[in-house]
Amino acid sequence: MRKLPHCPECHQTISFLQSFKNINPWKYKCPNCQVKIEASRYWKILTVLGFFLGGLITGIAIYQEKNNIWETSDSLIFFLVTIIALLPLSYLSWLYVEFIPYSKNEETNTKP
Ligand SMILES: [Zn+2]
Repeated sequence: MRKLPHCPECHQTISFLQSFKNINPWKYKCPNCQVKIEASRYWKILTVLGFFLGGLITGIAIYQEKNNIWETSDSLIFFLVTIIALLPLSYLSWLYVEFIPYSKNEETNTKP
């Protein structure tokens, strides 16, 4: 079985629930040893995609309400269903996250 996402400093597993407290992959803090770490590029891309998806989902609800197709309660149900549907997907993606030491990444960024 694949190793779960873990801290590159203390090597302790970082759980999916712990990741909710720290949603910025560019500025991550290990919940176990408090060292500043970063999520891999893969997770950063997923985070950006997630924001776009969130905007798209909100856009659908606004559109439907503006055209009097949906009531506010319909939008709320839509949000709820979408969140429930996306949660297992985000959990699966979470299993493939890798964390890198913060300074190491800075080093690679400054290289031309
Ligand atoms: Zn740690």
